[in-house]
Amino acid sequence: MKNYLKSHPDRDGFFGKYGGSFIPPELVPHFKEIQVAYDRLSKSSEYLNDLRYIRKHFQGRPTPISHLRNISDEIGGAQIYVKREDLNHTGAHKLNHCMAEALLAKHMGKTKLIAETGAGQHGVALATAAAYFGMECEIHMGEVDIAKEHPNMVRMKLLGATVVPVSFGAKTLKEAVDSAFGSYLQQTDKAIYAIGSVVGPHPFPLMVRNFQKVVGLEARDQFVEMTDELPDHVVACVGGGSNAMGLFSGFIEEEQIRLHGVEPMGTSEKLGDHAATITFGEDGEIHGFRSIMLKDENGEPAPVHSIASGLDYPGVGPEHAYLHSIGRVTYGSASDPETLDAFYALSRKEGIIPALESSHAIAYAMKLAKDNPGQSILANLSGRGDKDIDYVTEKFGFGE
Ligand SMILES: *Cc1c(COP(=O)(O)O)cnc(C)c1O
Repeated sequence: MKNYLKSHPDRDGFFGKYGGSFIPPELVPHFKEIQVAYDRLSKSSEYLNDLRYIRKHFQGRPTPISHLRNISDEIGGAQIYVKREDLNHTGAHKLNHCMAEALLAKHMGKTKLIAETGAGQHGVALATAAAYFGMECEIHMGEVDIAKEHPNMVRMKLLGATVVPVSFGAKTLKEAVDSAFGSYLQQTDKAIYAIGSVVGPHPFPLMVRNFQKVVGLEARDQFVEMTDELPDHVVACVGGGSNAMGLFSGFIEEEQIRLHGVEPMGTSEKLGDHAATITFGEDGEIHGFRSIMLKDENGEPAPVHSIASGLDYPGVGPEHAYLHSIGRVTYGSASDPETLDAFYALSRKEGIIPALESSHAIAYAMKLAKDNPGQSILANLSGRGDKDIDYVTEKFGFGE
């Protein structure tokens, strides 16, 4: 796996047979413009220095690594450590790529950022980046999601973004994507479309991975400093797959380190009850790229469920599909009940309230710890759980 990151994806954005760009012809020149700009800027010391400054002085990086002593002691197996992306500004890893996308837009001479959002997390991170750079921000969000995730809509508005309610179809994420692309096509001269994970057409899976790589590079140095060794296992939850690719990037070229992606198994293994795309999906094309996806009987993206709204996506980033196909990453899962147990355990025993998304990684790490005494596990704590506390306590209580 030496030089893996430099050699993947190929020039057309393919990771093996996955990835690429399958978009309407009218969008092609605009994604090409982004690709050309990224190729140039990713080698520009001015751009990289700007990004370094932002990481340190605005985002509060580097975020630390914490040893989960109490939970590890109680399990009596492997030692568990977590990378604290919950301490990144705005409370999750998403700002890592949003700041870099906004900086890219600024260097391209654009003045506006456009995106869709499901639960609102990407919208909030992007609105934050837009405010920092003094740019306009337009976020498309289904009316159903607006009702469900009201606080995030309030945040986006406070940050100065325009929230466009989407009222057709099922009024959720899929329609928000269509609406946002439609609006983007009207204003490609001044706006860029900012995708929220390692998904979508080339060059986004490549760019977003590289923008998140900071997580893995920091974590590797910190882990060695703390323990004098590299971890035996590295674990992250997978929705689209950006926090996982970020952390994995620091370790992927070292073949002896076992990498684990954790998919949401929801309430059961029945289609519609989970969002375990790699576990149960098949090859297909979704939102402009080729990957593994969960299909309904008509071959369309299937309905999915997870207790963590940031993970309920019927596709997955093409690089994960590829890493699965070559066996470099193991894809496992955590169910809603296992995730809740981890959410309560981390809160009560370690003093960290994790996001429900991140709780999937913790739940899996706890299972892995039992089976691997004497080893070490590094899991990505991709975000904090403040956004989830009302939902969890109203529905499930306090975990006594
Ligand atoms: C959005 C989100 C995720 C899932 O997105 P990935 O692209 O798979 O990382 C995970 N954790 C948190 C806290 C999120 O907000």
